[in-house]
Order: sequence, then structure tokens, then C-alpha cells
Amino acid sequence: MENRHKSGLRPRPVMGRAGVAPDSAKSKLAAAATPSRPSVMQAPVLVLNATFEPINVTAVRRALVLLLKGVAQAEETNSSNVHSTKSAMQVPSVIRLLSYRHIPQQSRALSRKNILLRDRNTCQFCARIFPTSELTLDHVMPRSRGGRSSWENLVACCYACNNRKGDRTPEEAGIKLQRRPRPFTLHTSRQLMRLIGHRDEKWRKYLFY
Ligand SMILES: [Zn+2]
Repeated sequence: MENRHKSGLRPRPVMGRAGVAPDSAKSKLAAAATPSRPSVMQAPVLVLNATFEPINVTAVRRALVLLLKGVAQAEETNSSNVHSTKSAMQVPSVIRLLSYRHIPQQSRALSRKNILLRDRNTCQFCARIFPTSELTLDHVMPRSRGGRSSWENLVACCYACNNRKGDRTPEEAGIKLQRRPRPFTLHTSRQLMRLIGHRDEKWRKYLFY
């Protein structure tokens, strides 16, 4: 599943815990920059393509790696600094890749987390929003009937609806699918970026155009 791009930037789920790009970025920062405060390093940074098109959200820690490697430049910074061995750097809020990166249409790993993210933690049958722990994944066309584990056949589903549906199609179970499931595309990502972007004034001009 871990599909790394040549230069090391991989499109990441845009929202993890507290709206921060999750996991592995944390372990990525070489000894180059020492966090002044750990929370600063986890803050979300908007990543723009060379064309200023928003393509991703990452953590400050990873954004600094991209700046230090010279593959990106800071477009917006916030008031705090982080100190590397050689110098102090302003903490980026928006960075831009220096060379254009082609973003494949379907770039997200198929995972429970990403499906719940795509479906905004909303049961796709009863349309209610649940905490992650109260949702499961449902195969719209049941696996027993040849339904595949794909973006187009997996949806977020609450346990009640999952039981009600059982091993049937929505039509057979007499329940309505809220919307046709789709791959997690750049469009989906951008909607989520806008949600996160509401919190950061400096992101707005890149996201609301
Ligand atoms: Zn439900």
C-alpha cells in the first residue's frame, strides 16, 4: 500500500487526528530541525503544486523536510520559529512545490480510514454521522455475491444499517444508498482542505477562489 513517489512526497490523507496529516511524517524529519514545541511540528501545512493549486495537507515537520531538501518553498509562514543546527526557520503555513507534480486521479490508499474520511463519518444508508468507532465498512454488493473491495463498492455504514442490510443489496434490503461511492479524488481532498482551511486565514486565498 505504501506507494512512495520519487522525491518522497506522497499524497496523504488530509485529515488525521486534530486535522493533522497523520503518522509517518512525524518520523521523517532528520536531525535537521529541532522542534521548539512538539505541537508546532504537528500543525497542518497546506501544500501547493508549482501552479499554486492546493494538493495536500501535511504536518509542519514534513513541510520543513521539503523546504530543507529544496523541493518546496514557503509561501506563508506563521509567527513561530524552529531552530535547525545552522539557522532558525519560520514555521510554514503554506508551502509550494518548486517543480510541478502530476497528481494521479486516484491517489489514496484504499483503507478503512480513508473511506470513513471520504464519507465524512456518515452512514451511507441512514445518513447519520457517527464516531469512527461506531462505523464499519459495508460492501454495497455483498462479497458473497462477488462484490469487490473497492472504492466503488465500500461505504461507511453504522452497525444497525449493516445488520439490517445483511447479505443483500440495498434494493433487496429496501434501504437507499445516499450517494454512489467514488474514489477519493483530488476533488474530495480539496473539499476536506477547505474544511481544515477555515481555521487558517493564510490558507484561504489558495482554497477559496
Ligand atoms: Zn446507518
